[in-house]
Amino acid sequence: MTPKLKMFFSEGALPTPYLAVDLDRVAKQYRRMVKAMPWAKVFYAVKANPAAPILKTLVRAKAGFDAASIEEVRQCLAAGCAPSDISYGNPIKKSASIAEAASLGVRLFVCDSEEELQKIAQHAPGAKIYTRLGVDNEGADWPLSQKFGASASTCASLLRKASDLGLIPYGVSFHVGSQQGSPAAYIDAIHQAARIFQDVAAHGIKLTMLNIGGGFPVQYRAPVPEIERFASEIDAALTTAFGAARPFIMSEPGRYLVAEAGIVCSEVVLNARRELPGQEGDWLYLDIGRFGGLAETEDEAIRYDIVSLRQQAPQRPFVLAGPTCDGVDILYRKNKVSLPSDLKEGDRVALLAAGAYVSTYSSQGFNGFAPLSEHYI
Ligand SMILES: *Cc1c(COP(=O)(O)O)cnc(C)c1O
Repeated sequence: MTPKLKMFFSEGALPTPYLAVDLDRVAKQYRRMVKAMPWAKVFYAVKANPAAPILKTLVRAKAGFDAASIEEVRQCLAAGCAPSDISYGNPIKKSASIAEAASLGVRLFVCDSEEELQKIAQHAPGAKIYTRLGVDNEGADWPLSQKFGASASTCASLLRKASDLGLIPYGVSFHVGSQQGSPAAYIDAIHQAARIFQDVAAHGIKLTMLNIGGGFPVQYRAPVPEIERFASEIDAALTTAFGAARPFIMSEPGRYLVAEAGIVCSEVVLNARRELPGQEGDWLYLDIGRFGGLAETEDEAIRYDIVSLRQQAPQRPFVLAGPTCDGVDILYRKNKVSLPSDLKEGDRVALLAAGAYVSTYSSQGFNGFAPLSEHYI
C-alpha cells in the first residue's frame, strides 16, 4: 500500500465499499515498464481500468492505448489521446464500431478470422491490420485463450488477403493470458510469430510490427517474477527470433500498470461460525463480493491479499464471502484468508493490488447494492 493509500484507508471516513487508486503509483509503474522494455511502445489495455484520471495520467506519460470497444476508443480520445496512438485490439467488433473508429482517425485494427477481416476492409478501408495468433495460456491465472486466436497458417493467409483487400498487412499479436507467471510463455509465442513473418515474406509481404500483448503479473498473495526478468528474457528471444530485423514492438499491459496502485476498502458485515456439513468453519462476510466488482475471484483465480487495520491481533483463517443472497457469492473457501479472529461488524479491511479489473466488473445494483464507488487520488 502506498503512503497515500494508507492514509486514505486509515482515516476510515468514506462509506465502503470503495476503490481508491494512487495515480502517482500508476505513473511510476509505467516508468518502470518503459525502463525495463525501452524497445517496446506501451499500449495500455483500457479494459483493466478505464477511469478518466488513469487515462489522462497515461496520456501525459505518452502511452498508447489498446481499446476493446468503440466506447473505449471514445474514452481515450476524450482523455486527450491521439487517434494514431489507439489500437482497436478486440477481434470481435460491430461494423458500425469499426466505421466510427475509422472516422475518428483510428488506423490500427486486429482480426483473427476472414469474416472480421472483410468487415474491416469494408468499413475502415486502407487500415493497418494485425492478426491475433492463438497461443498456449499455460501458467496464466486468468486465461484468455478460450475465444480468440487463429493458427499461424491462418494468420499468414489473413495477412496476405489483407493486402489483396487494400489494407496494410502490419503485424502479429498474441496474448499469453492474464497474470502470467512464466516468461517462457512469451518466448514460445515470439518464435511462433516470427515464423508468420517469414511465411508472408516469402509472398512479398513485409510485416513491421509484433504485439506481445499483456499478461505481466503483479503480486497478490504469491510472489511473481519481476518485470525486469520478463523484459530480459523477451528481449533475448526477440534477438534470437528476428536478429537485426527486429520489428516495431508493441506491448499491452493492463493489470501490471494499475493493479498495485489500487486498494478496495470494505467493511465486515458479519463474522460467524457455520455448522452445516460442507460449511463448517469461520466465515467472514464483507460488504463487497463477486457482484460488487470481485469477478476475478471466480474459481479463486485471483487471490487478493487482505489486511485489516489491526494486523497485530491474533488471527484465524476465514472463509470469505460477499454480502448478496447468491450462493456463488463466495470469494475464498479453498484459499482461506488469515485475519484477526475478533473482527466484527463495521471493522474495515483492505484488499491489496485491487486497481485492475474491479470497478467495471461491479454490477449496477444486484440485490440493491450500489455500484462500487471510486476515488482517484
Ligand atoms: C485483456 C487484454 C490485455 C491486458 O491484459 P493484462 O493481463 O491485464 O495485461 C491486453 N491485450 C488484449 C488484447 C487484451 O484482451
